[in-house]
Amino acid sequence: MTTASTPVKPAPNGKTAMVIGAGPAGLMAAERFAGDGYAVTIYEGMPSAGRKFLMAGKSGLNITHGEDLETFLTRYGASRARLEPHLRKFGPAQIRDWCAGLGIETFVGSSGRVFPTAMKASPLLRAWLRRLDGLGCVIHYRHYWTGWNAAGQAVFKTPDGDVTADADITILALGGGSWKRLGSDGKWMEILMNAGIKCNPFKPANCGFDIDWTDHLIDKCAGSPVKAVTLTCGPQTVRGEFVISKTGIEGSAVYAISATLRDQWLETGVGTLTLDLCPDRTLDDVTQRLSKPRGKNSLGNHLRKTLGLDATKTALIFEVTPRETLNEPAKLATAIKNLPLKIKKPRPIDEAISTAGGVAWEELDDNFQLIKRPGTYCLGEMIDWEAPTGGYLLSGCFMKFNAAV
Ligand SMILES: Cc1cc2nc3c(=O)[nH]c(=O)nc-3n(C[C@H](O)[C@H](O)[C@H](O)COP(=O)(O)OP(=O)(O)OC[C@H]3O[C@@H](n4cnc5c(N)ncnc54)[C@H](O)[C@@H]3O)c2cc1C
Repeated sequence: MTTASTPVKPAPNGKTAMVIGAGPAGLMAAERFAGDGYAVTIYEGMPSAGRKFLMAGKSGLNITHGEDLETFLTRYGASRARLEPHLRKFGPAQIRDWCAGLGIETFVGSSGRVFPTAMKASPLLRAWLRRLDGLGCVIHYRHYWTGWNAAGQAVFKTPDGDVTADADITILALGGGSWKRLGSDGKWMEILMNAGIKCNPFKPANCGFDIDWTDHLIDKCAGSPVKAVTLTCGPQTVRGEFVISKTGIEGSAVYAISATLRDQWLETGVGTLTLDLCPDRTLDDVTQRLSKPRGKNSLGNHLRKTLGLDATKTALIFEVTPRETLNEPAKLATAIKNLPLKIKKPRPIDEAISTAGGVAWEELDDNFQLIKRPGTYCLGEMIDWEAPTGGYLLSGCFMKFNAAV
């Protein structure tokens, strides 16, 4: 068993740091500044810390990814160049060491994803808050940041009325714009925009999509997985599985392709996914198998016997394929290898696992400091970057940077 190590409280450096937002990005920043000798005060709008982090742990806290660093860095897409220097300083290996230092063992799952052995987030969060306490960090809960006053102080709404605070360094780590009930309501965007800081509108990321299913498909398949398929949207193809929901589609393979599909839909007003229900067979092979005599078998049985397609895949074929195609093996084979799913729209932003959009990169220097507001830094999901699920989101929130003060 790993035991938590207690960092030695450093000598004070005479400076103060104020962290607003007690999610993973804010707590990591607090730990670093306290470790450098700053007197750190954390302000959090909710009655407790890390609510979204705890929610992330409900289905297994995927804290980082075990693939090689070069592949890992590609997951950050257009934001790679900005995040890379920080992820090289504090990437998957360092995150696992950091967990171990908190007494939390991790393992690499079969997909390469890294989880705490206990899967949950709560033991890690408890150990983390104990460490911050040991480092002298003070946390004020129910302190909701509403902006800056004329004197430049941060103003917080509390149950006892407004309070103000200032510090040598301010770290904003206010999260993205989904799952508002967990605290990240995205209202900070208006405050920053009023202060002249460019923010790009939130967009759902790692989200499901609505599809106009027939009642028949909903009755038959809602909640069923569609396994071992590929999904293609534009230049991107993803292999995996997804789930048919009452309103459309969701699940890991859909999340993995969601940014491309969302952007296609935003740009053109139309979003189409192409499914390959038999990715391990060539079109010729599928055609030949379907051309075997069907005898008295129903088409569903024929698809099961010749191609191993289950009832859900068969229902999907019936849902989107014209009747005349079903009776012609060559056309049916083409449909099975290229089944088009027309999406209506992404699911509402509040349901998304994460959000793109937020503080525009051009507003930040290489250390995440607001160029128009020296001494104030932005961290975590509130910056306009996105990454797929797989531990990349939390890894991106733990960015290590050098404060200028
Ligand atoms: C269901 C679900 C599962 C997920 N699973 C994973 C996973 O397995 N792996 C992974 O890498 N990522 C996962 N994520 C994403 C990950 O949890 C987030 O990307 C991460 O929590 C973002 O961290 P953050 O510190 O930037 O923001 P947040 O965690 O959102 O924290 C922001 C904090 O700021 C506070 N705040 C906001 N506004 C104010 C204000 N005005 N005043 C004061 N405080 C304020 C909020 O209350 C909150 O505590 C998951 C997300 C969800 C919803």
